[in-house]
Amino acid sequence: MSETTDFIRDIVRADLASGRTQTVATRFPPEPNGYLHLGHAKSICLNFGVAAEFGGACHLRFDDTNPVKEEQEFIDSIQRDVRWLGFDWGEHLYYASDYFEQLYNWAEHLIHAGLAYVDDTPPDSMRSQRGTLTEPGQNSPFRTRSVDENLDLFRRMRAGEFPNGARVLRAKIDMASGNMNLRDPVLYRILHAHHPRTGDAWKIYPTYDFAHGQSDAIEHITHSVCTLEFEDHKPLYDWLLDNIPAPSRPRQYEFARLNITYTVLSKRILTRLVSENHVSGWDDPRMPTIAGIRRRGVPAAALREFVRRIGVARAYSTVDVQQLDAAIRDTLNPAAPRRMAVLRPLKVIIENYPEGQTETLEAINHPDDPSAGTRTVTFGREIYIEAEDFMEDPPKKFFRLAPGKEVRLRYAFFITCTGIDRGPNGEILALRCTYDPATKGGNAPDSRKVQATMHWVAAADAVTAEVRLYDHLFAHPNPGAEGDVMADLNPASVEILSNCLLEPALADAPIGAAVQFERLGYFCRDRDSTPSRPVFNRTTGLRDTWAKVQAEPTKSQPAKRAARGSRPENLTTLKTT
Ligand code: ATP
Ligand code: MG
Repeated sequence: MSETTDFIRDIVRADLASGRTQTVATRFPPEPNGYLHLGHAKSICLNFGVAAEFGGACHLRFDDTNPVKEEQEFIDSIQRDVRWLGFDWGEHLYYASDYFEQLYNWAEHLIHAGLAYVDDTPPDSMRSQRGTLTEPGQNSPFRTRSVDENLDLFRRMRAGEFPNGARVLRAKIDMASGNMNLRDPVLYRILHAHHPRTGDAWKIYPTYDFAHGQSDAIEHITHSVCTLEFEDHKPLYDWLLDNIPAPSRPRQYEFARLNITYTVLSKRILTRLVSENHVSGWDDPRMPTIAGIRRRGVPAAALREFVRRIGVARAYSTVDVQQLDAAIRDTLNPAAPRRMAVLRPLKVIIENYPEGQTETLEAINHPDDPSAGTRTVTFGREIYIEAEDFMEDPPKKFFRLAPGKEVRLRYAFFITCTGIDRGPNGEILALRCTYDPATKGGNAPDSRKVQATMHWVAAADAVTAEVRLYDHLFAHPNPGAEGDVMADLNPASVEILSNCLLEPALADAPIGAAVQFERLGYFCRDRDSTPSRPVFNRTTGLRDTWAKVQAEPTKSQPAKRAARGSRPENLTTLKTT
């Protein structure tokens, strides 16, 4: 693996080489108004990764300047998720609200310098005075207030004398600037709101623009890395730092935000998904949140690997969601122990196996890793196979079980289908088979070929479980592109199977730990499990079935969805060697 590099790391390397800075300090600055998502994971890996690679520190700083939308639950979840991703801010945990007094003093400093003024213009008029991209704005009639009057009003704003929205503090820059952000931006607004950390101490709160760069400067951040939406804010970031006695001089660099097909990465929309009950919560396994992905069974290493593969650039792009699935599979394949589970059971009665007898067979835990060891599985007269592994009237290319055909049961024996037990309406209740005791362990002379090896569980000790098969939450590659984003929700994003059968070794699998159900995919036990009834989530299939369905041009969109919903696991046939 080559050393990670990108334009941000190149800049850091050059700054260290030229002596612009001796150490590196970065920060990850979430607003605690929602759970972290995959986009944040990219930013976290970048900021913490750069700091670690260059021997510096990365700060976790809560950008808690908007008390109306922020909650302690989000502060807690963000810390949990950053830690889970594998990063450590050490002693560098900060809150923008810790700097409210300092920020206030700098606002007074700007007023003294004639660079900020209190504006009483109502919000609507202020908006129309701002001008447009092609027309300059107009100066506010309050722009020429004296320093003394501004100071008096600003102090009274702080004291809580005025209602919300009555006045704001604005920077005095240039209402004709080509950059809208420099048209006398708002620095403080009146907000009579309870803050999770500062309580009722403040009646005015700084804007993002007035808090962000100054917080960076207070913490001696050297490289303030953010997404490209903030590029137009950089002249303001610099103007503010130029005009206050800043304790250090950070620089801002921008990279392209992460977008993923079939995925929404906007806290505003994720908040709607939760509040409108389209999902069960922020950690619903279909959510692109770190908490949701973790619950689905994805290990942190897979997310870090995904971020490493997609890289960091300035050009906008959308990453194919299959790249995420590929990183998950590539991480899970070498690590996940193999187990057998049957999702849609079909009973098989082995007619020549003695009634009341069972035996134990050895099953390997990982085909590529002998050190993972073996376990035993029970075999007996009644077993279950996957319903779709049998066809009564199979087409030519169907290699699995059919009347008169012989297949291998993994780790067990060769069996041949000899008959079908039917219910009153002709439905299949069970299969009749014979087994060949000479093929124990699934072994037979080379001359004796079967075309399929199938998974199974024994009726004697199988554990009943619920299995939840997840699919993309959205059915449109670019959700919301053609209207309301909620109209693009995938109606088949989860399928719940309640009568699945597991081999007993799965009954006490730890919550969240990945296992491979042979031939079916990667799964993990969900926290909804009870002692008598395990619940498993499908993390991802063994290979990509989505691309195949997408590529079929003849089917309509709903038909494609239906096709996916009906056979989501798309069984693969193991090689018979
Ligand atoms: P959203 O756009 O989802 O509402 P946000 O930008 O408002 O998110 P913040 O809490 O302000 O959320 O983000 C914290 C950091 O994460 C910021 O530095 C931001 O640039 C970065 N970030 C947010 N979304 C993405 C993304 N999709 N890709 C990369 N970085 C992101
Ligand atoms: Mg933001």
